[in-house]
Amino acid sequence: MKHKEVITRVSGPLVEASGMEEARMFEVVQVSNEKLLGEVISLNEGVASIQVYEDTSGIQPGEPVIRSGLTMSVELGPGLLGSIYDGIQRPLSAIAEKSGSFYIARGIEADGIDREKKWEFTATVKEGIKVQGGDIIGEVPETSLITHKVMIPPAIPRPIKRKIFPSEPLNTGIRTIDFLSPVAKGGVAAIPGPFGAGKTVTQQGLAKYCDAQVIVYIGCGERGNEMTEVLNEFPHLIDPNSGEPLIKRTVLIANTSNMPVAAREASIYTGITIAEYYRDMGYSVALMADSTSRWAEAMREISGRMEEMPGEEGYPAYLASRTAEFYERAGVARLHTSEERTGALTVIGAVSPPGGDLSEPVSQATLRVTKTFWGLDGALAYKKHFPAIDWLTSYSLYVDNIKHYWMREIAEDFPEVRQRAMAVLQEEAKLMEIVRLVGVESVSDEERVTLDVARALIDDFLFQNAFDKDDAYTPLKKQYQIVSSIMTVYTEATRAIKNGSLTYQQFAEIPELREISKLKEIGEDDEAAFESFRTRIKESIAKLGSK
Ligand code: ADP
Repeated sequence: MKHKEVITRVSGPLVEASGMEEARMFEVVQVSNEKLLGEVISLNEGVASIQVYEDTSGIQPGEPVIRSGLTMSVELGPGLLGSIYDGIQRPLSAIAEKSGSFYIARGIEADGIDREKKWEFTATVKEGIKVQGGDIIGEVPETSLITHKVMIPPAIPRPIKRKIFPSEPLNTGIRTIDFLSPVAKGGVAAIPGPFGAGKTVTQQGLAKYCDAQVIVYIGCGERGNEMTEVLNEFPHLIDPNSGEPLIKRTVLIANTSNMPVAAREASIYTGITIAEYYRDMGYSVALMADSTSRWAEAMREISGRMEEMPGEEGYPAYLASRTAEFYERAGVARLHTSEERTGALTVIGAVSPPGGDLSEPVSQATLRVTKTFWGLDGALAYKKHFPAIDWLTSYSLYVDNIKHYWMREIAEDFPEVRQRAMAVLQEEAKLMEIVRLVGVESVSDEERVTLDVARALIDDFLFQNAFDKDDAYTPLKKQYQIVSSIMTVYTEATRAIKNGSLTYQQFAEIPELREISKLKEIGEDDEAAFESFRTRIKESIAKLGSK
């Protein structure tokens, strides 16, 4: 008998099939004799458009389509942590085993989670108790870092009661981020920047060092060799907070530019679904997507092949709504369960605007919904100032809420010290324009102190080498100590210059200034050393004044 559901047209990752009257939207299908995995994305009078997650070359009209009756889904359960998946949750190791190499053969089916592995389950609820969707009924020690909470499947898509505005920072150890433009746990951040400005290095730094409990890292459409670095490096990295291998709290999703375009689009959804699952257990989860531009391009390619009406620069008209829907899945969520439970999902998306021009559609759609912006600047990267995050244009809309945490956990005057440091950095930008035009002699002694202090903030605090193991991560308390020390220099010196007891020349010769570049090396808990520096600076300036 002739197969009823057959391919009628093949256009790259998009396949059209007829005889699909019984199919449903988003149904998973096997396409062609090769049994390639696909998903129905549009249906019209028995003709289905199928997005195929594997390479379709050589596939011919007339070949069969086999319906599954199921919709596309992600498998959730213990065993996710430590996994490395492709965009449709096939473990790369299983694919490699079945294909005989990392070059992916087609039509490979692999479970997202090992079905054979046995886990030790401990019930946490008593027999006879009434439970509802989303409730935790037991635990499984998934890794030495994370206890997997076994939940009753929610009756609703996600068991969220409401979202609350995030108020705690996601501490990352990256100084310019934590101190100047922090993202909150449960917040959303965008990191746009031209090629080579540091998106990947920053995203990887966040994945390694941020204080979320679970990390989902999506390498979406990046070059294969970059992802290989991540895959090789990650299993050996140690979590600075626990001393355990980082991979024990991490899920990696790798979808490089040589993998099929539709799977690249799916990788974003696979990743965020896994992230939400751990959020629902009550964990603080952080998701990094590098780069969302490649995701949007995949969307554009599929939309184009479906002959949809193109919007700006060929992207589909729904680019903005899809982008918003993705970022809106972040948040601090109170969960709708029998017990009080809160989980946080932070989403950080890299954007690769061609030429670094933020007026393009993907950047615009992203900036409309993200509340923290880290603007990578090609000029800073060219000058080898890393991270090349422009401190003048970057911002965080979480500061008003986070500042209470800073005052409580770090220091009462944290927000004030931060504010003053930012003012000095802004002043520097203005003064430098004058200096460039008419030379440094044209600015006052007080302004020259401002320039020097700003330089110290830029070179000895904001500059941070991600490849130096001692410099790559700075705890927030120490960040505060460094800036507070530099700002003491500023306060004391400008005051003395204002009242005529200090000249710029005298200031420039104060021996303690040479210690500024070494403040980073002081131990995190050695507050006395920072205090000693501040005291000596004050004394030196006072002594000059008494002469
Ligand atoms: P992008 O992803 O934006 O194309 P990358 O993250 O690959 O850029 O960064 C390009 C190069 O810039 C890196 O290979 C590295 O040499 C340098 N770089 C970026 N960020 C840092 C950093 N924080 N510390 C040191 N070097 C950096």
